Amino acid sequence: ATEIRLASRPHGTPTLDDFSVVDVEEPEPGAGQLLVRNIWLSVDPYMRGRMSSAKSYAEPYEVGKVMQGGALGEVVKSDVDGFAPGDVVLHGLGWRSHAVLDPRHVARVDPDAAPVTTYLGVLGMTGLTAYAGLMEVAAFREGDAVFVSGGAGAVGSVVGQLAKRKGASRVVGSAGSAEKVRWLVDELGFDAAFNYKDGPVTEQLAEAAPDGIDVYFDNVGGEHLEAAIDALKLHGRIAVCGMISQYNATEPPSAPRNLTQVIAKRFTMRGFLVGDHYDLRPRFLEEVAPLVRDGGLKYSETVVEGIRNAPQAFLDLLAGANTGKMLVRV
Ligand code: NDP
Repeated sequence: ATEIRLASRPHGTPTLDDFSVVDVEEPEPGAGQLLVRNIWLSVDPYMRGRMSSAKSYAEPYEVGKVMQGGALGEVVKSDVDGFAPGDVVLHGLGWRSHAVLDPRHVARVDPDAAPVTTYLGVLGMTGLTAYAGLMEVAAFREGDAVFVSGGAGAVGSVVGQLAKRKGASRVVGSAGSAEKVRWLVDELGFDAAFNYKDGPVTEQLAEAAPDGIDVYFDNVGGEHLEAAIDALKLHGRIAVCGMISQYNATEPPSAPRNLTQVIAKRFTMRGFLVGDHYDLRPRFLEEVAPLVRDGGLKYSETVVEGIRNAPQAFLDLLAGANTGKMLVRV
């Protein structure tokens, strides 16, 4: 068995030296437990936060200990009624090839209902984040003009498509490469998109949404947030999902500098955690699963092969190598 441990807490951008890949004995499940062989690991930006010691909503990983994260695996040994070898389960003990789990910490998934990887992405945590953030937190209404940063990522790509399907007057996305920008417009049906590396975000957004925006779904923070505040219409809404431009920062951010506009524009800005919105999951699955099945909502996955490459996959995620959901095939 193999596990990935946190070797050291990164200062700034993490490197491979912050992880160690360790071969260990295959663990033995105890009474009332399951042994799961992981097949897919989810790679997520929030893991950067857990590598730091700073207090946040998720516990810091411990230096020298195996890391954690979303994963899908197959039961290989079961001492639990109702679970049999071969069952596919979703759980939170990723970053390792084999996991010992109590049944209350696993959810069975139906591999015949949808490709299993979708339970980590478009029909899983990131899809629900997009749905909850857009529908509940930003209180999306038909006719809204929507801007989403990180548009080609796991969350952002779902936000833009959902807004479009639900009658947005305009959907604009930003992303970090020309290829991603093309994907957003040509494949996902965004009305406009731009590469934030091509020039000031405020200027590019003003061009892409000349009449302004009603909703900003923030995955990036910093300069993107400042640009969105400038573009926001009266009573606009900002759902703050993430601020990935700051996760590796060693200095306080220089933007946004224009928060005083909150008064004149009377806009609202609300942060949220997907963990508070699992009550929406049935509605989300009822609406979105059929769209995924019939191709009405497209998704992309970037797959890195081999658990030993999981640290590199994480570094690649932070550097923007993924289009859609970043996954490791164990
Ligand atoms: P993504 O699939 O979007 O992957 C991260 C992407 O961020 C990269 O592909 C890269 O794309 C982009 N990125 C990295 N650095 C920067 C930067 N400096 N400026 C702009 N973009 C950057 O990840 P997720 O969809 O899983 O997550 C998206 C956001 O949502 C993150 O901020 C994450 O923390 C947050 N999140 C929040 C949740 C919540 O409950 N609040 C739950 C899940 C996610 P590019 O090539 O475009 O630069």
